[in-house]
Amino acid sequence: MLTTARDTLALIGNTPLVRLKGPSEETGCDIFGKCEFANPGASVKDRAALFIVEDAEARGQLKPGGTIVEGTAGNTGIGLALVANAKGYRTIIVMPDTQSREKMDTLRALGAELVTVPAAPYSSQYHFVHTSRRIAEETPGAIWANQFDNIANRKAHIAGTAEEIWAQMDGRVDGFTCAVGTGGTFAGVGMGLKAKDEKVTIALSDPFGAALYSYYACGELKAEGSSVAEGIGQGRITANLEGAPVDTQFRIPDQEGLDWVARLLDEEGLCLGLSSGINVAGAVRLARELGPGKRIATILCDTGFRYLSTLYNPEWLADKGLQRG
Ligand code: PMP
Repeated sequence: MLTTARDTLALIGNTPLVRLKGPSEETGCDIFGKCEFANPGASVKDRAALFIVEDAEARGQLKPGGTIVEGTAGNTGIGLALVANAKGYRTIIVMPDTQSREKMDTLRALGAELVTVPAAPYSSQYHFVHTSRRIAEETPGAIWANQFDNIANRKAHIAGTAEEIWAQMDGRVDGFTCAVGTGGTFAGVGMGLKAKDEKVTIALSDPFGAALYSYYACGELKAEGSSVAEGIGQGRITANLEGAPVDTQFRIPDQEGLDWVARLLDEEGLCLGLSSGINVAGAVRLARELGPGKRIATILCDTGFRYLSTLYNPEWLADKGLQRG
């Protein structure tokens, strides 16, 4: 059904679900991707941005003319900036300088004040999250969005993404998987689907360089290897992850995710980022575990147009030791 949105913010969420032909044929399952690139900021993070801002308004923390400050790999910043523009707030975004140029250019185009910092471990005071908290504390009338530990983030996925997937799959969902950045999507969709049906299998698809695979497999936060995927890869249990239902877990090499990114583009015309490829690789692994005939959902987190200078640039890939398809 064609709809007319009341305003830009009403375009957030209610994204289409697409059956992924290659992954489905390969496994004998029906594997569906939630098209989060169809949000107005072209990523899943628009949902969290809207919920975080409206939660801060409802609590009286964010007042007219106020400022929103956040540390982000980029997509949350883009979501916050568009929500802020639509509502009349200012945004200050702190980003590690390792993220794609396209995200930085998009943030500047949206009018966000961009602060880039060198990549640093979370334990360092210079880590982008801590830098953003400091800027928020020093800026009059500012709130710190704090997407990692602000559970308004996962509420967006319990109330939105999970409900939508359940309805779009006619209440027949055998499994769900995705990777974790803040954990808002993974925990929120997992909790929402489990509330509908306890039997839905929830699987974590962790990239290398993250510590959650080992945490859920054997109780120890331990990272191994590294990944070039942007927006995912977590080393701690964020507030959003607390209490997340996890039935099984996979650790997905970048190349396996990249192979799916290339296949989805070449065979189905879907241009996606690497976190989406890792999610689809995880969905294929989950399908193989659950067996033929099952119905599995995953998240297509953002558009590949955001990575033309990296993921879709053969020289950049070669430099990272990866190859396209
Ligand atoms: N993929 C991309 C490209 C992202 O930017 C993010 C957000 N950091 C995620 C996946 C993970 O989403 P979440 O923060 O909900 O775990």
